[in-house]
Amino acid sequence: MKGKCIIFSAPSGSGKSTLVHWLMDTHPELRLAFSVSATSRAPRGNEKDGVDYFFLSPEEFRERIAKGDFLEYEEVYGGNFYGTLRSQVTAALDKGINVLFDIDVKGGVNVKKQFGNKALSIFVCPPSLEILRSRLEGRGTETPEKIEMRLAKASEEMTYSTQFDHVVVNDVLEDAEAEVFRLVHNFVCQKD
Ligand code: 5GP
Repeated sequence: MKGKCIIFSAPSGSGKSTLVHWLMDTHPELRLAFSVSATSRAPRGNEKDGVDYFFLSPEEFRERIAKGDFLEYEEVYGGNFYGTLRSQVTAALDKGINVLFDIDVKGGVNVKKQFGNKALSIFVCPPSLEILRSRLEGRGTETPEKIEMRLAKASEEMTYSTQFDHVVVNDVLEDAEAEVFRLVHNFVCQKD
């Protein structure tokens, strides 16, 4: 049996990555493999090539767009490219592994359109924009200007939530974890 696609998208600061890592680490029985995206932005902190992203130069990225290597790609946050490589996804699906995507809202809608009922799309949202602001400030990694930019982007991104199969509000982390597990477990186990 072929694998399925699980798509997670969210405005930044919604706690999406925490939920995704929790799901992968605590539920190996779901047979999830993370779709490692490609990006033209520089690595941050401890990020490793091939693990967090495939880091490409803007020229390499454009060449691979021209070759049709991407399932989807976007230009986000001031000219950086992000995209999902077809090769990453098809090889895993053919082996019966479920592929988990952590991508931006437009990419999420795009992948869902391509895979239809073979994909489950989940939109993770913060309880409110005010709480999102305090989470971004709490991280202490962004300048005030960057925070304002991210918040403006977040309110635009929230408008995409209706195009997802499910919306999970990440207020109490344990509740959001339980909800995400329930949704993914049901989808992965469902026969079609
Ligand atoms: P960051 O630079 O913080 O790692 O990611 C910035 C944004 O790019 C996040 O919203 C992330 O979900 C999104 N992103 C990461 N990989 C992909 C991808 O393959 N395709 C798309 N469309 N967005 C991605």
